[in-house]
Amino acid sequence: MRLTKFTDLALRSVMRLAVSESGESPTTREVAEVMGVQHAHLAKAITRLQHLGVVEARRGRGGGLALTGLGRRASVGWLVRELEGGGEVVACDDDAPCPLRAACRLRGALREAQEAFYATLDALTVADLVASPAGPVLVALTGRRPE
Ligand code: SF4
Repeated sequence: MRLTKFTDLALRSVMRLAVSESGESPTTREVAEVMGVQHAHLAKAITRLQHLGVVEARRGRGGGLALTGLGRRASVGWLVRELEGGGEVVACDDDAPCPLRAACRLRGALREAQEAFYATLDALTVADLVASPAGPVLVALTGRRPE
């Protein structure tokens, strides 16, 4: 399986926001700069994260982005399922449907493999993703000194 770029950008954003200090609310542009990605691409991922209730935008002076409580507690498996849209890893029913699809054993095996992939991610929370050594690297990218 390969994650879409969209999902990867969303996960990078979530990890960056997970190491924000209390009261710190970086803008989408600041998150994009720290993570080394284009602002326009990241903005779409942030919008999706807001719709999922994982990220909130704080308005006004000093406003910006922050993880919600759900965002901190969310399992990575749930988040990736939502971002990827739950499709199958192979397109058996496309415009030219595969003639084997009614009896294919490969299709079933791929479904099981996909579920095992998500089950591994279900065991992780967003907070787990920023445990050391990732957390200190993310903090250093923001320009802060790791604790
Ligand atoms: S061979 Fe099986 S898995 Fe591949 S497209 Fe056909 S039905 Fe799907």
